Amino acid sequence: MAQVAAFHCLQELVYHTNDQCPQVSSVVGANQRDGTGGKVECLCCHQLNKTYDKKGTIQGLLKRVKTWHKRLT
Ligand SMILES: [Zn+2]
Repeated sequence: MAQVAAFHCLQELVYHTNDQCPQVSSVVGANQRDGTGGKVECLCCHQLNKTYDKKGTIQGLLKRVKTWHKRLT
């Protein structure tokens, strides 16, 4: 559940950088290759990695909620 080294699948137009990407599970096995393959980064992976940058999804969310709460009160 984390950011991983870039990999791609031969039949796809994008490369992935997160093993939690929902688009990865459907394409596995012999067609998987290391590296970017000269493709563009998968948007799902991009979003997932951004989330993990904030040190955990739940903690980040809790922080945000607290901030909103402060603003409202
Ligand atoms: Zn992806």
